[in-house]
Amino acid sequence: MTPAFDELTKRLRKLPGLGHRSAERIALHLLVEQPDALPALVEALEAAAARVRRCTRCGNLADAELCAICADTTRDPAVICAIEHVPDLVAFERSGSYRGSYHVLHGRLSPIRGVGPGDLNVASLLARIDAGGVREVILALSNDVEGEATCHFLSDQLATKGVQVTRIGFGLPSGGGVLYADAVTLKSALEGRRTYL
Ligand SMILES: [Zn+2]
Repeated sequence: MTPAFDELTKRLRKLPGLGHRSAERIALHLLVEQPDALPALVEALEAAAARVRRCTRCGNLADAELCAICADTTRDPAVICAIEHVPDLVAFERSGSYRGSYHVLHGRLSPIRGVGPGDLNVASLLARIDAGGVREVILALSNDVEGEATCHFLSDQLATKGVQVTRIGFGLPSGGGVLYADAVTLKSALEGRRTYL
């Protein structure tokens, strides 16, 4: 093609879930089939890059220092639901079954992929608990080996903090995560949470 087209395709291929053919198809769509839509997309990307950041309290996406959930005074700050990724939060919010706050770890422990405790958003979780006012931490992590390891690690960290630690009860096959659970399953997983620590 052209150097600019190839560069765009190369960048698109680095996005999750896009192989070479998908990247090429999107590049063609943007440049040839729908070029009128391109300026708005570029503008949206620039605006998001400039404004969107991590909430300083919970790690969720935010346009300000605090995300919309942390800034919402009707949410219960005494209950923190620890999740792996932002889409897990979206899944809980969509289920409408949770009115506490969240903490996004941005991953889970994985020695194979080289993800250690220092790579996760854990220090700010401990700081939130040390600041007081937290009654319960709900571990809503995947139901697989890495999720288990992360739950163990977190419960060790929380052992001396004087908070109740629970884990959601998955009605899912082993290996299932929050993201792929439907609203009813998430609601029952929350209601069926068990003491973990
Ligand atoms: Zn937040």
